[in-house]
Amino acid sequence: AKIQGKRRFCLFNDGMADKVRLRMQTEQRLRQAMSRQAFELHYQPLIALGEPQLMGFEALIRWREPDRLIMPDSFITIAEECGLIHDIGEWVLHSACEQARQWQDNYPLPLRVAVNVSARQFAAPDFVRKVGLILLETGLYPHLLELEVTESTLQIMEDSQRVLGELKALGVSISIDDFGTGYSSMALLKHLTIDRLKIDRSFVKDTPEAVRDCAICRAIVTLAHSLMLSITAEGVETAEQAEFLAKIGCDTAQGYLFAKPLPLDALAGYLAQWQARLRE
Ligand code: C2E
Ligand code: CA
Ligand code: CA
Ligand code: CA
Repeated sequence: AKIQGKRRFCLFNDGMADKVRLRMQTEQRLRQAMSRQAFELHYQPLIALGEPQLMGFEALIRWREPDRLIMPDSFITIAEECGLIHDIGEWVLHSACEQARQWQDNYPLPLRVAVNVSARQFAAPDFVRKVGLILLETGLYPHLLELEVTESTLQIMEDSQRVLGELKALGVSISIDDFGTGYSSMALLKHLTIDRLKIDRSFVKDTPEAVRDCAICRAIVTLAHSLMLSITAEGVETAEQAEFLAKIGCDTAQGYLFAKPLPLDALAGYLAQWQARLRE
């Protein structure tokens, strides 16, 4: 295997060698970040359309370096490839549930927390057991935890239906993330028991001007409701988009129009604003 590795390396040109070197450095830095607890979660509000109402938050990971904040798109794939995603993902789940347990104790209405689950994490044989343990450890009501998985995650796994069934039995909800961007979205809906679809931002961003995008959003909302699924729109940035989505019956929305993902120190103030509105 060693010889083969060497031979393969000979086929690399300089650019590829640079890439490999960069990747190995990132892997090393990711490992250090994990042991130094350099990750943090930011929470983006999920807002019910119509009569605006705070429904919960999506937890989004960030990597804190002394001089900057590194966004998940630049390290989640690498973490998946080197297997670190298992540790990172478990940390994310635990922190998010711990946080949501505080809302459960202190906020007058139920607030759910949505957690992104990567393919390798979802496919791990002990994933469901871990989720169950984390719920027990944190004391979060299972129905307040929502796991977000993508179409491709569900597709590449043969027994995703079994895993979803086991998660359902625990009482947690499942949503399909980035809905519409993967392959055979319809085939998935035919077989899988899930609770919610999230319309990908790419379909939302040109509404309400682009008629085709509007038609796609309308169709996804209708489809979701016919299947008794609830539906969230991602990446809502303008009042016009929110108005359009409300009009076509989209249940919840998330996006910069309402709030960017909030760091922990901004969360208490944000919740206090909603709580003040509740008392009015
Ligand atoms: P996603 O799950 O589709 O999350 C939505 C992304 O859109 C987030 O980017 C969010 O900050 C961003 N966003 C929210 N509202 C708006 C908006 O109005 N306009 C625009 N332009 N963007 C908006 P973020 O936080 O950089 O995360 C990127 C992706 O990284 C996520 O996409 C998700 O796939 C992944 N990710 C984030 N956190 C985790 C995690 O804890 N575990 C795993 N496995 N993946 C994660
Ligand atoms: Ca997501
Ligand atoms: Ca998305
Ligand atoms: Ca995603």
